[in-house]
Amino acid sequence: MTTALAATIGLAGSAAYFSPWLWRRHRMNRVRRELVRNRILVLTYDDGPSSALTPQLLDLLQRRGARATFFMLGRHAQQHPQIVDRVIEEGHDVGCHSDQHLNAWKVLPWEAVADIDAGYKRLSPWIQPDGMFRPPHGKMTLPTYWSIRRRGAPVWWWTIDSGDTHDLLPSASQVADRLRSEGGGIVLMHDLDRTRPRNDFVLELTAVLLDVAQKESFQIKPLRELCR
Ligand SMILES: [Zn+2]
Repeated sequence: MTTALAATIGLAGSAAYFSPWLWRRHRMNRVRRELVRNRILVLTYDDGPSSALTPQLLDLLQRRGARATFFMLGRHAQQHPQIVDRVIEEGHDVGCHSDQHLNAWKVLPWEAVADIDAGYKRLSPWIQPDGMFRPPHGKMTLPTYWSIRRRGAPVWWWTIDSGDTHDLLPSASQVADRLRSEGGGIVLMHDLDRTRPRNDFVLELTAVLLDVAQKESFQIKPLRELCR
């Protein structure tokens, strides 16, 4: 391979990953300013719905009168359609998080695009083709970026990772401190059923964040109420 060809391929490869990453940074910086300006807390739950944790979360959110955003996997929505119905009936947002949770940086471009399309298709009883999207693993490439742009779907990452997927769970108060110090945020959590301590952590953290929001006058909003 000539050096020029190798350089071109290298450049195209980097552009495919780098440009969506730049776009993410730009977009989330703008979102972060809105969150801080209006002291907004957004609770988001990915990878569900699940048979145990999602209904428990819904009970908690209902008791506290809070609305959240659920980025669902198409295959899980198909397994628990009544739970998706309940999420919608109780006024929460539902977004697409693909079907099989493929990482766009690790599979072929068309596989990642097909996984997103399959997610929207299975979620079609509940969301529009341009409904909100969160990329699996937070990763996008140019092909997945263009497929989402073609749909006109808003893409939402997060500003605070709760750490609920980390090997070592943080304490709920550490995450709450971050919300306080940043003055607002979109918190990433997961509502797929895992071990009991992890499910309990998500429930505890949700309750703690709701307490902080109440005491320190943060507005709790689902994502649809933020500007796209
Ligand atoms: Zn996920």
